[in-house]
Amino acid sequence: MSYASETRRRRTFAIISHPDAGKTTLTEKLLLFSGAIQIAGSVKARKASRHATSDWMEIEKQRGISVASSVMQMLYRDHVINLLDTPGHKDFSEDTYRVLTAVDSALMVIDAANGVEAQTRRLIEVCRQRDTPIITFVNKMDREVREPLDILDEVERELGMPCVPMTWPVGQGKSFGGIMNLRTKTMTVFESGSERRPQDFETIPLADRETLLKRFGHEFESAGQSMELAVGASPQWDHAAFLAGKQTPVFFGSGVNNFGVMEVLEALVDLAPPPGPRTSQLVVNKQPVVKVIEPADPNFSGVVFKVQANMDANHRDRIAFVRMASGKYSPGMKLKVQRTAKELRPTSVVTFLSQRREAVDEAYAGDIIGFTTHGGVQLGDTITDGANLQFTGLPFFAPELFMTVILKNPLRTKQLQQGLAQLGEEGAIQVFRPQIGGPMLLGAVGQLQFEVVQHRLKSEYDADVRLEGCQYTGARWITADTPAELRAFTDAYPQRMALDAADTLAFLCTSPYDVRLAQERFPKIHFHPLREHA
Ligand code: GDP
Repeated sequence: MSYASETRRRRTFAIISHPDAGKTTLTEKLLLFSGAIQIAGSVKARKASRHATSDWMEIEKQRGISVASSVMQMLYRDHVINLLDTPGHKDFSEDTYRVLTAVDSALMVIDAANGVEAQTRRLIEVCRQRDTPIITFVNKMDREVREPLDILDEVERELGMPCVPMTWPVGQGKSFGGIMNLRTKTMTVFESGSERRPQDFETIPLADRETLLKRFGHEFESAGQSMELAVGASPQWDHAAFLAGKQTPVFFGSGVNNFGVMEVLEALVDLAPPPGPRTSQLVVNKQPVVKVIEPADPNFSGVVFKVQANMDANHRDRIAFVRMASGKYSPGMKLKVQRTAKELRPTSVVTFLSQRREAVDEAYAGDIIGFTTHGGVQLGDTITDGANLQFTGLPFFAPELFMTVILKNPLRTKQLQQGLAQLGEEGAIQVFRPQIGGPMLLGAVGQLQFEVVQHRLKSEYDADVRLEGCQYTGARWITADTPAELRAFTDAYPQRMALDAADTLAFLCTSPYDVRLAQERFPKIHFHPLREHA
């Protein structure tokens, strides 16, 4: 097969939802119905409770398994579908953001009783910024839930884009009769139970009104009315608008009952986009030049969107997850890390087949491959087979929470430094080195990140630390047009300057006014709340 046809048959997406909406259940059913796994329950088993702070250690214990299942590949209708898991806890939202840079579409799961919840809202924002196409699944129709028109209305408001219903529910809760499929003009009849295969559900043509009325009576009639209202109020299905992130197809169902899930799997194949072009930057004569990389371009390129410590703490090896942007990967290939111009020497290269990790035979744009390395690879790194390019768009957010790291045993300084450097490269936390010296600072977006890092420093690097609060509440990355301007600024605030893990200069602040004041004093200095890997 040509590169173009290989990339055309790929779909790479993430599921986004608020905890408990049914993401794990849906993931499992998608794997089951595509044939990627045989027995239900295996995805569920690895799901750690992630609501309480004290549970993160449990997550940690299960990390070995979650490495393998944070990316899942399935084959369906001759399509290669890559599903990326997003961390459930809001304190790891930075991770989630980075995962979303690696996908071409998102599947949004909504609990029909709760509508769009807080965490979904944040994820939607991220998708909106990138115009990521979103497929919506309204779950738990077997329960007493809200009116479908209400839910649609809320999704429209929250997403800021019109919904186009693809299926429509007949009743809900105890009187849930099934869904009408607007494309095939049939009704699929609901039955509860998690053993049923999708093809086992009975379907009745909508044209057979008499039968439907007889069996579903009033529910069928009122579903027909509300569907008409919904269809009347929504625009025509427009595939191009969906791809541009301007409308979302909506499906109803009940994940736990295997119901309405097949429609979603079909939509991923039929509607979700294959990998698209990705923007990169080259530096030519010290000037940045934008270059668009096409997925079918024969040269290998990809970007590291996630780095995760491997299972064996003694070995310090890590998996760099690379989202391929172009070319073909085949074993033994020579690749280099753009940032260091060094050759990437992985000890193994794996692909993620549902729950298992396997050596990669070949991979194409859209696929996620994992390079196991002992270091030398950072979050945001571009990997190529030689070309000199750097993908843009993998963001680091200015932290809002800061802690000072105090080492309990000063003899462990080397271990602490190594640990912080590696955890910083993984993006588990942001590490700042104050330029005037003194203890290192940790910066986070969520409180839980501190706990994870403290625990990992101890268990993986044998560095026991105390974390102490400090006065900082924000940071801005600093750039200037000339070195002289930059020097004038750093001379004015020596005690506020720090370097992060990538040696990028940052200004630490104690309140939003700090930035405003500094900006007024130095109008030519640029203060960035977001750093893109470069
Ligand atoms: P996640 O936190 O989003 O991954 O959610 P889970 O998939 O773990 O589901 C949360 C809870 O909702 C579990 O107890 C599921 O069994 C239940 N659940 C998932 N889908 C459905 C559904 O369609 N109907 C009902 N009644 N419960 C569901």
